[in-house]
Amino acid sequence: MARYTDAVCKLCRREGQKLFLKGERCLGPKCAIERRSFPPGDHGRKAAFRRKMSDFGTQLREKQKARRIYGVMERQFRRYFREASRRKGLTGSTLLSILESRLDNVVYRLGFADSRAQARQLVRHGHFEVNGRKTDIPSYIVNVGDVIAVRSNSNKKEYFKDRAQLMQGGSKSPEWLTVNFANMSGSMLAVPGREDIDIQLNEQLIVEYYNSR
Ligand code: SF4
Repeated sequence: MARYTDAVCKLCRREGQKLFLKGERCLGPKCAIERRSFPPGDHGRKAAFRRKMSDFGTQLREKQKARRIYGVMERQFRRYFREASRRKGLTGSTLLSILESRLDNVVYRLGFADSRAQARQLVRHGHFEVNGRKTDIPSYIVNVGDVIAVRSNSNKKEYFKDRAQLMQGGSKSPEWLTVNFANMSGSMLAVPGREDIDIQLNEQLIVEYYNSR
């Protein structure tokens, strides 16, 4: 399976904003955006003063930003877009709902991981089950009513014991999810709408990008 393996902070610097790809580090002074807020590469500083971007460039950057936030490769992202276009409602909002419903994102939103990348790894390593069945596919789409839980063997691991304490000490999941700290599980109460998704993104530009191609 193809995946991005280079330094992720470069992605934030390319987009010129924090994409929160590294958990705790993103909130501290070590964040690369705080220290070097210009694009990566030899000509990064000069590029920061480049002339205005074309419409196509702006649309492309917004699409890339969304892909990078959710850690999705181009082919799969395009598939999500096609699926969103087929459904009723605003394509851009539907696209974000689909992305938010991915199992790795739900695990992250429930507070079981500090970042989507960490959540993806935990899912891949088989630490979660959905409705009682082991599920190790990060792109699995969670449906309303599904129960996501840390598997009983994994619950005994130090990571999850620490996590349980951390979550009880003030973790806050979004309103479309509910968490049960006692048994390290959670479930989806509703499909997330655009107003539930706290990501700085202009999804309309993504729609324009694909529709113009
Ligand atoms: Fe982006 Fe986080 Fe790296 Fe900052 S620390 S540049 S927000 S991934």
